[in-house]
Amino acid sequence: MLNIQLRLKEKIWHTSEIYTLKFEKPKDLDFKPGQFINLAVEVNGKQEKRAYSISSSPTEELLMFTIKREDYPEEPEKRAKSVSTGLSKLEPGDQIEAKGPFGVFVLEENPNLVFIAGGTGITPFRCMSKYLLDKKINANITLFYSARAEKDFLFYEEFNKLKNENLKFIPTATRDENFKGNKGRIDENLLNNNIKNFNENTYYICGPKLFVESVEKILLKYNIEKKKIKVDKWG
Ligand SMILES: Cc1cc2nc3c(=O)[nH]c(=O)nc-3n(C[C@H](O)[C@H](O)[C@H](O)COP(=O)(O)OP(=O)(O)OC[C@H]3O[C@@H](n4cnc5c(N)ncnc54)[C@H](O)[C@@H]3O)c2cc1C
Repeated sequence: MLNIQLRLKEKIWHTSEIYTLKFEKPKDLDFKPGQFINLAVEVNGKQEKRAYSISSSPTEELLMFTIKREDYPEEPEKRAKSVSTGLSKLEPGDQIEAKGPFGVFVLEENPNLVFIAGGTGITPFRCMSKYLLDKKINANITLFYSARAEKDFLFYEEFNKLKNENLKFIPTATRDENFKGNKGRIDENLLNNNIKNFNENTYYICGPKLFVESVEKILLKYNIEKKKIKVDKWG
């Protein structure tokens, strides 16, 4: 674990609330796919920090985070303290303090992987999938990804391009009647229709607490050992 200084190279807005920050990668930073870093920024006159999963793979040149800005339109006091809003104001060349990497939500030996993401919970899976494919590691990945509408899917084109016989991509839109793919939440039906041998896989679930808990409950119903279910709950 290191105290690090990060210099912003590029900022990309995906939607009006979600953006990616690409930093120069410190030479001595070594991280495992799935880990997070605490990013600090000054908000309301104080340095505040929050955890952000690294969305780039260790095989890539830059260090990337993809963040949803919580800007609380009705609550200016909360907005003033929001780290995700503070980070959204950074511009290329700005430097911030950070600490990490942290976390045990990392890949294990099993090559049969099921990734299940809710909303911005896709970030560690973007890192893991890119890493496995870049390193040509023999793995079978099934990626379930729920977002509100087609426009809210992050890395959508990229996952569609990465998709091959080793990466099955199953997006589902919870509130988009016009979406051509699956509609609705990640539920028992969707999992059952797309997973062959439930007990062969290691499961990784990431996203808001309620999302993670609801998916975990379904998996436990299928008698999957608890140690084969890894969770990263946010907030
Ligand atoms: C391991 C991990 C990885 C994460 N990765 C991402 C990511 O890749 N992209 C992304 O958009 N978000 C990610 N988050 C969520 C992120 O850390 C922030 O919670 C989110 O950006 C909201 O923070 P805020 O300051 O803008 O809003 P706030 O209103 O301050 O916080 C929103 C919520 O976070 C809680 N909170 C307040 N202070 C802290 C604190 N010090 N640490 C943790 N939670 C706190 C609040 O109780 C509230 O429920 C991750 C969280 C965790 C735990």
